[in-house]
Amino acid sequence: MLVLVINSGSSSIKYQVRDTETQEVLTKGLIEEIGSSEVTDHTQGLDIIARRLEEELGGRKIDAAGHRVVHGGERFSEPVVIDNEIVRAIERLAPLAPLHNPAHALGIRALMNTWPDLPQVAVFDTAFHRTMPEHAWRYAVPDEWYTKHGMRRYGFHGTSHDYVTGQAAELLGLERSDFNGIIAHLGNGASVAAIQGGQSIDTSMGYTPLAGLIMGTRSGDVDPSVLTAALRHVPGVETADDLDRVLNSESGLRALGGSNDMRKLEELVKAGDPAATLVVDMASYRLASYIGAYHVAVGGAKALVFTAGIGENSGFFRAKVAERLGALGIVLDDAANAARSDEPRRISAPDSAIDVLVIPTDEEQAIALATEKALQQG
Ligand code: ADP
Repeated sequence: MLVLVINSGSSSIKYQVRDTETQEVLTKGLIEEIGSSEVTDHTQGLDIIARRLEEELGGRKIDAAGHRVVHGGERFSEPVVIDNEIVRAIERLAPLAPLHNPAHALGIRALMNTWPDLPQVAVFDTAFHRTMPEHAWRYAVPDEWYTKHGMRRYGFHGTSHDYVTGQAAELLGLERSDFNGIIAHLGNGASVAAIQGGQSIDTSMGYTPLAGLIMGTRSGDVDPSVLTAALRHVPGVETADDLDRVLNSESGLRALGGSNDMRKLEELVKAGDPAATLVVDMASYRLASYIGAYHVAVGGAKALVFTAGIGENSGFFRAKVAERLGALGIVLDDAANAARSDEPRRISAPDSAIDVLVIPTDEEQAIALATEKALQQG
């Protein structure tokens, strides 16, 4: 099946056409600056995409569209075929993802205009984590914060955690339902998931993607009292918007280490830079702490899996994390860890108590496959 995979933002539309059988990327591109004089709205953006596809697909027709949707709230636990009611449901979840869900809905409606007969599927970043037990997703705050305002842990990167779980089980020769492990998705945004029986039972991101690990420009976990103290004492931090900005965009690796690019940080650490050394120590320590906790949560992980930009490419950072996991019996094969490859692979030594894997994630392929499956199920 040929699936047009769409990631619609407020001022941009990213797209890829994937053949679900061959995994081939037939074409991909980006429409930017929607809202400008050249591209006035999402419908015009999709008209441009439609013209490009006609030229680039050599007469082949797309069979369906799959949309990446950040927030599925409590309703969506799997991909769904889109109709008018589903678009409205995605819009109603806007309070939980104000920057993303309204923009996804714009893209979906624009596609309905451009290709009225094309089946569309929504694939949610939160859906994979709907299997978390309540003791993992509840916050110990007053009940109404959850019942009236939806404040609970949702988790994100679900499409990637789900795809990588399947790939890891396959590499280990296990049925997916026998896979107990830990997935570390380390990109600019980063999260770790505890997988038991192939399902998510806990994850480090929470109500928003700000929680958990130290990320490129996000703080990850901090004592909430630091935020109230910042409002009281730090000049320039006066409002909730200020806090959002500082914690999401002015924190993390870049704030403390001078860069959010792990290649640059590796260079700085090797040159003896104290700030970069500290932030890499902090980020690897935070991740190792989560891995220890999730090893217990899943009842003994069989595998630790690294994925996304840093997880797939930085042997340096993987080694920093593994150094802290000796108590779990984790031993890397240094040569395998240092080797560059685009293939799923094992990087642990034969005597390691837990297999350590690197699995390249492919969210577009995962969305294309999920789209096909949702349509087959009707
Ligand atoms: P996003 O969350 O934006 O999708 P990616 O998964 O593409 O992010 O990861 C981006 C990050 O991956 C970069 O910030 C960089 O730190 C890291 N990265 C990419 N390539 C390499 C590499 N060869 N070595 C180390 N780090 C890398």
